[in-house]
Amino acid sequence: MKRITILGATGSIGQSTLEIAALHPERYRLFALTANYSHEKMEALCRRFEPRFAVMSNPDSALRLRQAIAGLPTEVLSGEEGLMQVAAADEVDVVVAAIVGAVGLMPTLAAVRSGKRVLLANKESLVMAGSLFMEEVGRHGAQLLPIDSEHNAIFQCLPADSIGSDLADKGLRKIVLTASGGPFRDLDIQALADVTPEQACAHPNWDMGLKISVDSATMMNKGLELIEACWLFAVDHDDVEILLHRQSIVHSLVSYNDGSVIAQMGNPDMRTPIANALAWPERIESGVEPLNLLQIGRLDFTPADETRYPCLALARQAWRQGGNSMAVLNAANEIAVEHFLDRRMRFTEISNLITEVMERTASGPADDLAAIFDADAAARRLARELVKVRA
Ligand code: NAD
Ligand code: MG
Repeated sequence: MKRITILGATGSIGQSTLEIAALHPERYRLFALTANYSHEKMEALCRRFEPRFAVMSNPDSALRLRQAIAGLPTEVLSGEEGLMQVAAADEVDVVVAAIVGAVGLMPTLAAVRSGKRVLLANKESLVMAGSLFMEEVGRHGAQLLPIDSEHNAIFQCLPADSIGSDLADKGLRKIVLTASGGPFRDLDIQALADVTPEQACAHPNWDMGLKISVDSATMMNKGLELIEACWLFAVDHDDVEILLHRQSIVHSLVSYNDGSVIAQMGNPDMRTPIANALAWPERIESGVEPLNLLQIGRLDFTPADETRYPCLALARQAWRQGGNSMAVLNAANEIAVEHFLDRRMRFTEISNLITEVMERTASGPADDLAAIFDADAAARRLARELVKVRA
């Protein structure tokens, strides 16, 4: 019996994880579930799964939840201390890191530092603090398993024990990340300035949270994933190629120097990578429909156009600059996406704002958490100021 903490249980990844856990009550028990504000959703989850702990980051929401579930065995905690406690608790075997954004870094690191099996969805934490994060994984013997679908695909196509090891010795030629291209892949470039948040969040292949949906539309998501792949698999950015693949059936590929290319395929459903990482090295039922290649009929691959998707070039640039640049990229993007979702900024302004924040920020080291959080905070401040000046 494995005991699981889900950081971000009310989100899209959290939901998918809970569905898999519910299919295998003999294998998995929910130790803790966490959320930000949504106490009503959490109440329903507590009634269904009766976790030992429920954590609400927002203290008012914690109070309400405590009242609502007074008769249940679940204890309600709040704030970052609550998150850290349930990520690191001795009783926990697996931590699913599915909070969105930079706020996910500290609780995810707490799980890493306690040597847990960590299922990483929160790519932002690896983007902003990759070097330190991977060091801590090694130091504390944590077992890091990616559930981002592309990285889980790559993980499945690589030899065993490849995370953080030197792949050049294993005959690796390159990694190919696939990208759907998002909802605007066929839209006239001129029309991008007028798209709405609703249109941006209507992804053609995947059903996801709001922030990652906008990131998919700008393809900053693929930029963040490029950086994520570089840290996870210890490769450089030009070892990673990005291809547009509109069907989202091939989740990524690994090319070897003997000419072999190994791909992982499946329906676009996050329950597959989550089930893979939960049970690894075993395989379990995930509830995902079997892939029907005859029905799909064809698989297309085209180049990713950096004029349409300027965020791709920004992410490569941040990786090349190194140090705090990736934390700056990530923070500026989070602010830009927030403003776009609130209709205070046009879609096409997202990449402009990130460019400007990066240009105005001096590169510096990102060796410790203080430097990383300083860079993150300064980039957020600058991004907010720049938005005000433009308004
Ligand atoms: P979501 O918006 O659906 O859910 C986010 C979760 O984080 C919620 O439970 C929310 O309560 C919690 N949260 C948000 N802000 C918080 C805060 N300030 N403090 C504490 N908790 C907070 O997001 P999602 O789509 O599930 O994505 C989660 C993460 O997984 C992201 O990093 C995303 O990039 C990554 N990811 C998601 C998918 C997907 O299919 N949804 C695929 C790959 C990677
Ligand atoms: Mg992905």
